[in-house]
Amino acid sequence: MSAISVTSLRKSYKNVSAVDDVSFDVERGEVFALLGPNGAGKTTCIEILEGFLRRDSGQVQVLGVDPGLRQQQQWLRARIGVVLQELAVESFFTVRQVLERNAGFYPAPRPIDDVIELVGLREKSDAKVKKLSGGQQRRLDIGLGIIGRPELLFLDEPTTGLDPGARRTTWELIRTLSSEGTTVLLSSHYMDEVEALAKRVAVLRRGHVVAAGPPASLGGRDRGQVTIRFNLPAGVAPSELPVTPTRLEGTSVEINTNDEVVVLNEITNWALRQRVSLTGLDVTRKTLEDVYLALTHEETNEATGVLK
Ligand code: ATP
Repeated sequence: MSAISVTSLRKSYKNVSAVDDVSFDVERGEVFALLGPNGAGKTTCIEILEGFLRRDSGQVQVLGVDPGLRQQQQWLRARIGVVLQELAVESFFTVRQVLERNAGFYPAPRPIDDVIELVGLREKSDAKVKKLSGGQQRRLDIGLGIIGRPELLFLDEPTTGLDPGARRTTWELIRTLSSEGTTVLLSSHYMDEVEALAKRVAVLRRGHVVAAGPPASLGGRDRGQVTIRFNLPAGVAPSELPVTPTRLEGTSVEINTNDEVVVLNEITNWALRQRVSLTGLDVTRKTLEDVYLALTHEETNEATGVLK
């Protein structure tokens, strides 16, 4: 059974169609990421799955129950963890007090000190929430999300505002939770984060899923064009190269090809025969960010600046 199953989900706010015919499944124990530009519909989807927002239509199952049914919500709340985009705790309590209060909502919470340690707030455990930095508040949010040992954890942009060290610590925490069997639904704007953590992703654009799959093969990333770069050897004219460059800037040669094995073979054989070295030789495919930007590209009317 999937941890999350979404079929033909729709939600509008007055005249804004925020989620329009979205379908995806998240397997148990999987880290699944929702990507998409601001306003694409990620938070709307997540809030429907959490049972905080009513859908207009479509089928939704979370841990086998419908989060839209009031009678299922208490059961579901005990089994999910939620990290929202905004901190939703009383700022005059201390970190420890906030965690203790929330632990009381769950049948078998994690020990408070373990949570404080896991999110790296040991030195701030007795500090008032309002005295925490933005990044420290974000860590507390994550602590609140995991205190109930959730089967399923929703993380809405969990590392926004965190410094690079704290981001890596949070990644480690997510990996640990995942290895313990926790299912994680993540929304993020950071492609490195998604690549490091998610087994599969769905890209949303204006309420639609425009691509879905593992980050490594999203949008045909593992196939298609490759860019080969190297520096033109000293004393060699571009016309002497065995393959015509796609681009030449100074001594920097760039060749785009769909047949990298053949092209690399020709170039390296030629270099060996000519006894020249190919400094800076580099072979790259499209990055996840390249694919993401192509999938979510918005055309604007040049005259008005309004989206077409
Ligand atoms: P972000 O990356 O900025 O968090 P998102 O992908 O989470 O964006 P949503 O917050 O789901 O996007 O918003 C989807 C669309 O619905 C947007 O056009 C947004 O303006 C609209 N919307 C969201 N909440 C409301 C609301 N309460 N009332 C009216 N419109 C809303």
